[in-house]
Amino acid sequence: MSKRILVTGGAGFLGSHLCERLLAAGNDVLCVDNYFTGTKRNVAACLDNPRFELMRHDVTFPLYVEVDEIYNLACPASPIHYQHDPVQTTKTSVHGAINMLGLAKRVKAQILQASTSEVYGDPEVHPQVEDYWGNVNPIGIRSCYDEGKRCAETLFFDYHRQHRLPIKVARIFNTYGPRMHPNDGRVVSNFVVQALKGEPLTLFGDGTQTRSFCYVDDLVDGLIRLMDAPAELTGPLNLGNPNEVSVRELAEKIVRMTNTRSRIEFRPLPVDDPRQRQPDIALARKALDWAPHIELDEGLKATIAYFRELLEIS
Ligand code: NAD
Ligand code: UDP
Ligand code: UDP
Repeated sequence: MSKRILVTGGAGFLGSHLCERLLAAGNDVLCVDNYFTGTKRNVAACLDNPRFELMRHDVTFPLYVEVDEIYNLACPASPIHYQHDPVQTTKTSVHGAINMLGLAKRVKAQILQASTSEVYGDPEVHPQVEDYWGNVNPIGIRSCYDEGKRCAETLFFDYHRQHRLPIKVARIFNTYGPRMHPNDGRVVSNFVVQALKGEPLTLFGDGTQTRSFCYVDDLVDGLIRLMDAPAELTGPLNLGNPNEVSVRELAEKIVRMTNTRSRIEFRPLPVDDPRQRQPDIALARKALDWAPHIELDEGLKATIAYFRELLEIS
């Protein structure tokens, strides 16, 4: 059955893939974005579809539209971008959540929040399970993002309890793929862009720290399954890939796959760089029958192809 679906942050990395998937399933999609980190180019392929509508709008201001479902993704996601204007970052998470929840309440729409593994902060529990409350600094330079997302979760659960609003909260872990921002400082985009430009790959620390990378298509599949799951399943629910890889292994893999002559250059490890981050996805496996399927090699291949094309045209 076709639905009218609002995607905030729909011109961003995850949002643009989500818009495509929702359109392909026959829905009407309204993409709302202020283009802070997203671009119209990300949704260029959707523009020919009469079921797609693109609106420039900042979610910190009220929005009056009629929809059946809302995916709330608007928020810069990488430290470089969210620390650029930290007050606006908190406003986007908090005022943005209030406005989208107010909208959902008025039109009786189900609403999904794109939360983050950063709500666990510098975790004392590995891997992170959903009922771990986290270890977050409220006054540091990452707090505008971490605490903004935590407050948004609070608002979602209060609208749920107080107004019986149907909500879904997904805690997303490191995700990569085509349409990542080339200058967002994330490890996958940095290494791929450096390798393609023949520049040294900047490896922070000794590279033994590990991360778990989820390919965007798997992640989007998880978001849609969560939205379509029975109302009792509100989350919070972790979505990510539990397969760990060391950052050094990742660098070596990207060097091999791009056939680059770039060397790996060691740089100091940033302060508070977590040794390890890994989602516990037992709940998503059980409740959504969901697990990531796309191997790192396959996902990197598509990501490298995307950046190769992007660098050629720019
Ligand atoms: P992104 O920066 O590519 O997308 C965010 C989009 O939101 C951009 O298009 C941006 O222009 C838009 N936006 C920002 N502020 C806005 C505002 N005030 N009003 C309207 N639009 C606004 O990032 P992404 O990686 O696609 O992340 C999407 C969501 O998923 C974010 O909420 C992010 O916190 C969450 N998330 C992403 C990851 C990841 O690994 N990519 C991990 C955890 C959580
Ligand atoms: N809001 C919105 N679109 C709507 C309905 C509400 O943007 O369709 C905003 C509205 O501006 C308000 C916020 O959502 O500031 C919260 O709405 P709610 O009804 O929960 O609270 P109230 O209006 O009572 O403050
Ligand atoms: N990293 C790196 N080189 C880079 C960018 C990042 O070695 O050019 C490392 C970083 O220190 C961290 C890991 O890669 O250990 C993942 O960093 P990212 O910022 O992508 O994600 P997060 O730390 O939030 O998981």
